Amino acid sequence: MKLNCQSTHIELTKGNRSHRKHARLRNRLADTIAEKGIHDEAVLMAVRSIPRHIFIDTALTNRAYDDRALPIGCGQTISQPYTVAAQTQLLEIKRGDKVLEIGTGSGYQASILCHMGADVYSVERHEELYHKAREILQELGYRPTLKLGDGTKGWSAYAPYDGIVVTAGAPVVPDDLIKQLNIGGRLVVPVGSKESQMMVRITRVSEDSYEEEQLQQFKFVPLIGEKGWD
Ligand code: SAM
Repeated sequence: MKLNCQSTHIELTKGNRSHRKHARLRNRLADTIAEKGIHDEAVLMAVRSIPRHIFIDTALTNRAYDDRALPIGCGQTISQPYTVAAQTQLLEIKRGDKVLEIGTGSGYQASILCHMGADVYSVERHEELYHKAREILQELGYRPTLKLGDGTKGWSAYAPYDGIVVTAGAPVVPDDLIKQLNIGGRLVVPVGSKESQMMVRITRVSEDSYEEEQLQQFKFVPLIGEKGWD
């Protein structure tokens, strides 16, 4: 009986210790990406709060809070935290905004958006990743609306959106996504070759006019689908 109590105590202590260690690493990660130019406090707060290690394989736990992309299976990656933060900052979302993400992947970016109070819709083309992300997001208490399918055509059933973020590299800006923006809404999408892409932000200024900004070079996995790569 005594032994059981002792081992439970040791487990709890270990659990608390790793909990504190992860919280410390998250704070350090948020500081790192703030130094790289992320100034949106809501984004930084979400990075400080979300347990990124839960979204990746346990074998990679000790790299979860490095500012790096990591493999998540199916040849895909959880994006580098700086990239997630930069794209989220560009969306300029407010609580209650409706946001569509193309490329759920691990579910980490969806959790960041949910944490910031957005009403999140997210599409993933890999069935295994879709199920895994759904499970983890539910476990953490986030309730985005998820879909398995080709996100290059957006998700017209819930349009228009205040923000659309594409987390894979597109050969061109998918025109269906532009049409699904609210007036004042923003589409953030990396566009370019398979090797490197320019982050583009398109703002719908009125019913039929848009403003385009070209921002910074990134490297994403390819956006594959009808309006993406083959
Ligand atoms: N946002 C993700 C995260 O937080 O982990 C990053 C995911 S990864 C960089 C890009 C994802 O886009 C991959 O999971 C990939 O399968 C997905 N993807 C690529 N083309 C897609 C498409 N046409 N529709 C939906 N998802 C797509």
